[in-house]
Parts: sequence; C-alpha cells; structure tokens
Amino acid sequence: MTARILVVDDIEANRDLLETRLTAEYFNVITARDGHDALAICSETSVDLVLLDIMMPGIDGFEVCERLKANAATCHIPVVIVTALDEMADRLRGLQAGADDFLTKPVNEMQLLARVRSLLRLKMLTDELRLRAVTARDIGLENLLDNTNGEGGKKPKILVVDERETSAEKFVKPLRGAFEIVHAPDPNAAVFTAAEGDFDTVFVAAKFSDFDALRICSQIRSLDRTRFVPIILVAEADDDDLIKRALELGVNDYIVRPVDSNELIARLRTQVKRKRYHDGLRDNVAASIELAVTDGLTGLHNRRYLDTHLETLVARALNRGKELSLLITDIDRFKDVNDTHGHDAGDDVLREFARRLRINVRGMDLACRYGGEEFVIVMPDTAPHVAAEVAERLRAQIESEGFSIENGAHSIDVTVSVGVTSLIQSEAENAKALLKRADEALYEAKTNGRNQVVSRAA
Ligand code: GH3
Ligand code: MG
Ligand code: MG
Repeated sequence: MTARILVVDDIEANRDLLETRLTAEYFNVITARDGHDALAICSETSVDLVLLDIMMPGIDGFEVCERLKANAATCHIPVVIVTALDEMADRLRGLQAGADDFLTKPVNEMQLLARVRSLLRLKMLTDELRLRAVTARDIGLENLLDNTNGEGGKKPKILVVDERETSAEKFVKPLRGAFEIVHAPDPNAAVFTAAEGDFDTVFVAAKFSDFDALRICSQIRSLDRTRFVPIILVAEADDDDLIKRALELGVNDYIVRPVDSNELIARLRTQVKRKRYHDGLRDNVAASIELAVTDGLTGLHNRRYLDTHLETLVARALNRGKELSLLITDIDRFKDVNDTHGHDAGDDVLREFARRLRINVRGMDLACRYGGEEFVIVMPDTAPHVAAEVAERLRAQIESEGFSIENGAHSIDVTVSVGVTSLIQSEAENAKALLKRADEALYEAKTNGRNQVVSRAA
C-alpha cells in the first residue's frame, strides 16, 4: 500500500524518527514543522494520513485537527495524534477535535504500522466513494456531498456484544445518554442481531468463555448487510498480537482495559461520524446513478442507459444464439402538438405515451426514452413476428384512445410510427447495426404515410 503520510512535529528528531520508520515500509513521507505548514500542505497537495504532534508553537495539534476536520476538502483525511503525554484528558481532547486515533511517544512500532495501515485502508474506501460522488456531480447532478459530514439526525444505535450481564451494564450505563444501546449476550447470535439491526457501531466488549472475539468481527465483516458497520474491540494494553490481527481483519478501532467511559464515548462518536459520512456518500452515489440513467419527464430509462445496456443484451443474445428484437417509435407530427397546444401539453402527451408503452411491455423488456418524442423498446427472447405484433398493438392503442391535455380539459388524437427489427446471428451484428435497421424501418413508416409499423429483416 503506497500512500503519502504527513508527519507534523516541531522537533526535528521526532520527525526524523517517524520518517525513517515509515519510509522503511515504503510510505511516501512529507514533513511539516508547525501547524500552519501542515494546514497549507493538506489543502495544497493530496495527503492520505496525518501524524500530528500536539504541543507546537503557534497553533497546536488540537487546533490543526479541528481545522482539518471542519474543512470539507480535508475532513476525510485521517488524523493520528502523537503525543508525549499519556494523559487521558489529552486523548479525549484529541478525539473530540475529530482525531481518528492517537499514539503515545515513544511510539510503539507495531502499533504505529498497524494503525497507519488500518486507517489508510479506510481512506481508500472513502476516496473511492468521494470520487464516484464527485464524478456524478460533474455530469450535472447537484446536491451531492451535502449533509454528509457530522453525526446529525437520530441517536446512534450501538450493539454491545458481551456475555456477562453485569460487566455489560457497567460499560453501557454511561453510554445511554448519548446512544441507543442494544445488548447481545450470546456471541453466536450477535452477528444475526447485527445484521438485523442497522447499527451505527458494534462494540465487542469482552473476551468470551468459549468463543473467539475475532470470529465475530470477521463474520460481521463478511456479511453483506454488516460489511460497513464499524467495529470497536476491547483489548488488553499489551496484547499487540490480538490488536494487530483485529486491525488486519478490518476492526476499525480498539480500546484498552480498563475501559474509560469517556474515551469509549469519544471513540464511538468518531466511528459513528465516519459511518454516517460514508453512508451519505454511498447514498449519493446510488441516487446519482439512478438519476443519471432515468429520464426525468417520463421515469423511463434514458438514452445513456440504453447505450450502455443494449451492447450487453446484444452480446448475450448472440453468444447464446437467442432471439432479440428492437423497436423504435416516433410520435407523428408531434411538433404540431407543441405548436397548437403548447409545450406543457406536449409534455402531457409524452408522459401518457410512456405510460402506455410501459403497460405494453414485459418486465424483461427494456423501454427507454431515446430522444425528444422517440422511444426504444428492446425485447430479449422475442421473435420478429412477435415483435411486429407488439408494435402493431401499441400503434393501435395510441390511435384508438385520445390523449388528455391541460388537466383533462381537452383530448387530442395522437398517432405513432414504429420501426421494428430483430437480431441477426452474424459476426457483423452489433447494437449499432440493430438500431440503424430499426431507424431505417421507422423512416420508411414515416415516408409511407405515418401511423404504421414497418418491420425490417436483415
Ligand atoms: P414526424 O411525424 O416526422 O416525426 O414529425 P414531428 O413533428 O414529430 O417531428 P420533429 O422531429 O420535426 O419534431 C419533434 C418535436 O418534438 C420537436 C420538439 O420540439 C418536440 N420535443 C422534443 N422533446 C420534447 C419534450 O420534452 N417536450 C415537448 N413538449 N416537446 C418535445
Ligand atoms: Mg422525431
Ligand atoms: Mg415525430
């Protein structure tokens, strides 16, 4: 994993030490000697992780962290606070400032590398999501990346896995104000509880008498529904081996015994915040993909969707020696509808046309708006004569029933011309050729007088 890590420390010897260790692991290391430098570097270049000293002249590490986390352009960069002070108050202050983790000096090499790797893995996921969301925005879809930062909304829901009722209660009590807590006493059932519950974080709070805590973590990671749920594990301070394996399994964070409830709250908050940020990005990506392939006026798929899918449908049919037919419809003299009744009336007709189209096709058919008043239907496993029947039925249906416009004030007659063609099992066949034949058939229907279906064989 190659990544760019920024080491911020006012003391040269400290910078050198971390730089040497990280460079030995092939990380790309840059350094900054104070908070101003650090902020400038983060906003000007791309940084994957920041190791941040607390006590520095000028602006201290807490403030640097706060500023990074408050800025939409840098809030996704993981920050690890490195401090000589093994003081609980400082750790808490760091986590409250939005730090993703802390390390104490002298830095334990194993923990340093395990931490760095785990946070970088997460950062790669964030980057991927951000990239897709930004791409979606670039192709003209607004309102992305809004409201994706911060805890916001409803009380975070935490699953506490602990078989000992009494100790669970001890952990849980101080959390109740800030979180909604569900207790899972049976480690075997915990994964199912996690899958059903839509949790913001899972806290595996104990070693189990006859169950491997890491197994729960790996099961949670492997289920589709819980793949992205943050996990925090309890560990003994000196259990480097367990911590290392846990982080490799994708456990997001750990807390050492004896558990300090303020620290636990701060760590849970960090995980919840990050999860909601990720969820927001993921939803945005899904919604924008949906928007990007849907026609706003009719709700049918749009041309972009057809362009990407027709090729696949054609290739599949060719490979399997199956039939496939395609028809293009074009409303007759549609310009006259706009000219006579106005653009809104034209839109009414298009919507109603799309509705009739939809009820005339099967679930497996692909109906889309190809352009202004042109629509395409792709029909897998459909023979030419069946496609011609579908086309004729549609044509007759459009002609037979008037289209209501201006909120039902008027009804106008509409007709449609249709071009039909079917797949030829030939090496030269492809989506483009298919569309071209259908288009030629449509043109023929128009020149022959409109309101008719023309089928074009090979
Ligand atoms: P033909 O029978 O030869 O197809 O004649 P036509 O008038 O239907 O064909 P033409 O391509 O000349 O005109 C299509 C019209 O469709 C022109 C355009 O303004 C209109 N149009 C395209 N998209 C929309 C839309 O979203 N809403 C409305 N109301 N009209 C649209
Ligand atoms: Mg047209
Ligand atoms: Mg037309």
